[in-house]
Parts: sequence; C-alpha cells; structure tokens
Amino acid sequence: MTQEELFKKLVAHCKEYGFVFPSSEIYDGLGAVYDYGQNGVELKNNIKRYWWDSMVKLHENIVGLDAAIFMHPKTWEASGHLSAFNDPLIDNKDSKKRYRADVLVEDWMAKQDEKIEKEVEKARKRFGEKFDEAQYRATSPRVLETVKHRDEIHARFTKALNDNDLGELRQIIIDCEIVCPISGTRNWTEVRQFNLMFSTQMGSTADAANTIYLRPETAQGIFVNFLNVQKTGRMKLPFGIAQIGKAFRNEIVARQFIFRMREFEQMEMQFFVRPGTEMEWWNTWKERRMAWHRALGFGDDNYQFHDHDKLAHYANAATDIEYKFPFGFKEVEGVHSRTDFDLGSHQKFSGKKIQYFDPETGESYVPYVVETSIGLDRMFLQVMSAAYTEEQLEKDTRVVLRLPACLAPVKAAVLPLVKKDGMPEKAQEIVDLLKYDFNIVYDEKDSVGKRYRRQDAIGTPFCITVDGQTLEDNTVTVRHRDTMEQERVAIDQLYHMVEEECSYRKLYKKLHL
Ligand code: ATP
Repeated sequence: MTQEELFKKLVAHCKEYGFVFPSSEIYDGLGAVYDYGQNGVELKNNIKRYWWDSMVKLHENIVGLDAAIFMHPKTWEASGHLSAFNDPLIDNKDSKKRYRADVLVEDWMAKQDEKIEKEVEKARKRFGEKFDEAQYRATSPRVLETVKHRDEIHARFTKALNDNDLGELRQIIIDCEIVCPISGTRNWTEVRQFNLMFSTQMGSTADAANTIYLRPETAQGIFVNFLNVQKTGRMKLPFGIAQIGKAFRNEIVARQFIFRMREFEQMEMQFFVRPGTEMEWWNTWKERRMAWHRALGFGDDNYQFHDHDKLAHYANAATDIEYKFPFGFKEVEGVHSRTDFDLGSHQKFSGKKIQYFDPETGESYVPYVVETSIGLDRMFLQVMSAAYTEEQLEKDTRVVLRLPACLAPVKAAVLPLVKKDGMPEKAQEIVDLLKYDFNIVYDEKDSVGKRYRRQDAIGTPFCITVDGQTLEDNTVTVRHRDTMEQERVAIDQLYHMVEEECSYRKLYKKLHL
C-alpha cells in the first residue's frame, strides 16, 4: 500500500468510526472546516489533557488562561498581524488552482532529499557489506550534483523570503521546473501576498471602525494579560502562561484534511524570561517538547527538528518539531523565541507600562518570551496516523488503532456473550462499577468477534466479556487490544486493571519533570 493510499484510508476511517466529519456535510461541506464526532471529541479531549497537565500540573511556574477569541483590533496592529501575517500565493492559469509559492519550493526541496536517499539505498544494495555510506555521499557525482542544486535553491529561497522578493520566488519556481500537479503545466501567475486573518463587524453598524478579527493565534490573549496574571498570581520570572483555544486562518490551500484548517485549535504556552537567557530557555523547551512527543511511543525516528528558513517578524530563533506523516515530514509544533517584540509592542500601542520588576537585579524590564505552539488538530492527525494499523491475521485482516491507552476514546467495552440468562444485567453492573472514572461502552449487538473488531478500530484497550462462568464465579474474560490475548479476571480486579493501564502517570514519568 502506498503512503497516499494509507492516508486516504485513514481519512475514510476517521469518518466511518465517528472521529472526524466534514463540517455541515449535508450542504456538501465547507472548505477546510471539520467537526469531531463521538470518538474524535474524546481523543481530542485526552490529547488536551496530556498537554495541559504536563504544562500546568507538572510545572509549578506555569499557570493557565482562557482568553476570548475577539480582541481589541489594536491588538493586531501591535502584533504585526495586520501588516505582516501573509502567505505568498500563486495560481496555475490552466488548472485555475491556487498554491502557496513557498510550499511549492519546500516540496521540491523535499523531493531532492528523497532522490538523494534513494541513490544511497540503491548503492547500498549494489555494494552489499562493503558499502561505505559516508564515502559514497562524499564522492558520488550524482549525489553531489543533486545536493549542490538543492543547496543553491535553498539559499536563493531563504534570501527571497527574507527580502520579501516575490519576483525571485516565482523565478525559483520557474527555474526548478515545478509543474502544477493538476494541469501538469508551468503556466504560473505572478506571486502575490495574501493576509490570512478573517474579519467581521462588531455592533450594529458596518463601518470600518467596527472591524474586528478572529484571532489567528491564541498567543496575543496571553500577552495582553501578562500583567493581570503576573500580579494576581504573584508570579516570578521565569514563568509561563498556557492556553488552549480556537484560532482562525483563511488558508490559501487547504487540501490535507485536518492538517491545515481554517478553524482550528492551538495549545500555546508563553514562557517569560529575563532578557539574555532566552536562548538557554529556547533550547530547554525544544528538548522538553520533543520528549513530550516521544513519550507517546510512536518511534523516536519519526520526529525531527527543522529550523525555520525565514524568521517571523517577532522571532530571533525558531524551530519546528516535525513528524513523519504519510505525506512526509511536516510541522506539528513550533518552538519560537519571540524576544520582547510582543510585550514591547503592546506597551507602545496601549500606552501602558508592561514591565516586570526583577527583585533579584532591582531593575524593571520588558521580559523576553519563548513560546511553544502546537496545533491540537494537527496533533490529533499525528496520533491517528501513527496509531492506524492494518494487521494481517491468520485468516483475515483487522484494523487496529494502537493508541496509548490514556488517549483512547473508550477505555473498555463490556460485552454480554448473549442477550439473556442475566448476562446483560451483570454486564451493566460492571459498566456501573467503572463508568464514574472511565469512558466505558456497553455493546450486545452481533457476534463477540465482530464486537472485538469494532473496538479495535477505535483503539479500545480492553474488551470485557460476561459469560456463563461469570454468573457462577464473578470472573470475566478480558481481551487485550494489541496482543488479542485473553485472560480470566475477577470482577473486583477490573477497576485496578483499567486504572493501571489507562492512567497518564506512565507518560508523565517519562517526561522527568
Ligand atoms: P504552517 O507553516 O504549517 O502554515 P505555521 O508555521 O504558520 O504553520 P504557527 O503559526 O507556528 O504555524 O502555528 C503553530 C502551530 O499551529 C503549528 O505548528 C500547527 O500545528 C498549528 N497550525 C497552524 N496553522 C494551522 C492550520 N491552518 N490548521 C491546523 N493547525 C494549524
């Protein structure tokens, strides 16, 4: 199965099993807007909890916040979003399809990297045990030529982005002979800038003075509340403010399911530090966030850092944590050193002093900020991509979501073997025993085998079956999702078993916080 086919299957699976639906589907959906179904909302809430607890509960110096989506319009002038929150777009004149010019070039560079890796793999097979990879990479004319071309384009690309040179960006697309995947032609328009903020009117008159924006990032709600939180919480630097909330971006291209949405959720933490210590903290947060991802156990090699080619207007260092999605390594989270840009700018625009008095140095200053910013929906897709497995069994195949148990939407399904002889009542007693602490389902429809498969497909760690023996000795059959092994367990042991397996504790311990 190709990665593309796998991704298609994943999207279909998300719909079929109540994880993600297209928004307002009965009206044929709305571009890049999605709804979460009965299982999706549980998984999403569990991811939120993993993030929130590891930030707020496990760090004494991080507190939470829930700011409004609407903010005073001056906020976006001060933050620079009104003038600089743009993406470069380009259209293909034949297919009439629109693309992000920077993404076209990035994809081209990723293809060159793939080409190089393929050459190396081919040579490894050809030379067998004698293969010296380092020497091959240093001497193979074909590899060297591709690397040189790629690096030249990379240098031009970085410069074009930093100089805001849209003509050069277009020229790179022409020079790399990038074609539109739909029409196959190179008939491109000029590159233009496009502001990503959605606007609307507040109040009953529609004049421009009432224009407000749907926040494109949650961070600004944190910055404008810096003094409120710092003073009321008597917070001492370094400290952080964490927030989970909706953000909106009028994305130019949104074709990758929930990877790029127009309405999405972010989990952001702004960490305020003494000026001059920001690089140290940036490195600390890079490591902490990478550890958070890796603790989920989806394979350390599937994550990498990717430093930004172009720094945003507010940043002096920025890296992305990328995951190997079915469509390649892509950003899941950004770790940015935002300097004193935001607080300093809000101080200027509002005319209010936004400073911190440092009792250790006796000075007042505008703190520097290190931000960790992760898309909840993108994380959801990452977890689903990593967990989705098609397994060949002796006689047939099964689809199983290998989710960490604490993230699974349903922790256990309770199944009476048959719908009579007191088994449904006994099963209901077990549901009642567990339901106050765990999300449990009761299922009595179809054969037990089919019921197992339904639970595998949504990642339920345990299936608990009530049978004739249960009524005699108060034991049940517990079937484990990953191994499919079954064991006999006493009913009074069930709570402990589910609690042990589904607790977040195991993950948190891996974070060493
Ligand atoms: P990209 O380069 O993919 O457009 P970005 O660098 O603009 O993303 P940030 O502004 O750093 O993204 O936002 C932080 C995080 O928010 C991203 O790492 C991503 O997980 C998430 N995110 C950003 N835009 C979207 C979107 N349109 N849909 C879903 N998640 C998003």
